[in-house]
Amino acid sequence: MSLATYNTKRNFNETSEPSGKKNDKQQDKLSFVIQRHKASHLHYDFRLEMEGVLKSWAVPKGPSLNPQDKRLAMMVEDHPYDYKDFAGVIPEGNYGAGIVEIWDSGTYTSLEDSGNVKEDEKLLKAGLAAGNLKFKMHGKKLKGEFALVRLKDSNSNSWLLIKHNDSYAVHENYNSEENTPKNSPINKWLASHKPEEKQAKKKP
Ligand code: MN
Repeated sequence: MSLATYNTKRNFNETSEPSGKKNDKQQDKLSFVIQRHKASHLHYDFRLEMEGVLKSWAVPKGPSLNPQDKRLAMMVEDHPYDYKDFAGVIPEGNYGAGIVEIWDSGTYTSLEDSGNVKEDEKLLKAGLAAGNLKFKMHGKKLKGEFALVRLKDSNSNSWLLIKHNDSYAVHENYNSEENTPKNSPINKWLASHKPEEKQAKKKP
């Protein structure tokens, strides 16, 4: 697992994102983070720690707790472990320019939850390689079992993020946007830029 792509895409003299270093200090639990990212499009970045880096997917519609939703998740380059704490502004002209905020974070395990991080990573890595990654989340918003399933009919990076039907599943519509604080940095930005965008659209 390499951070070369991550580093190539970014200029660390300009962006305050962490530079790409692998984390060699194994914690006793695996972390995850979901960042809400207002770039050219608003999307969510779903990141799971594995072997010192964050395996990453961009989820345009955001995650759902409703098992009937299959949310498209585009696999992107590995991100450094320290990215799990990143929130802030990526300046204009840089890769992913816009605003990043943390939507949810916590720890996760394999479904087997072996209690041993090394053992769990082995299971998760096998799931990742097979295109069928199942895991249990312990977040503030996302809890319980989920699966990331790679679409078979493509060699592209398209996966689906699906909630398993367990006691944390919801059966009414789930919209991650509605589960975001109104005063979050991105929502404040969106609110202050709305009139401008409307005006821009009116122009021929
Ligand atoms: Mn992003």
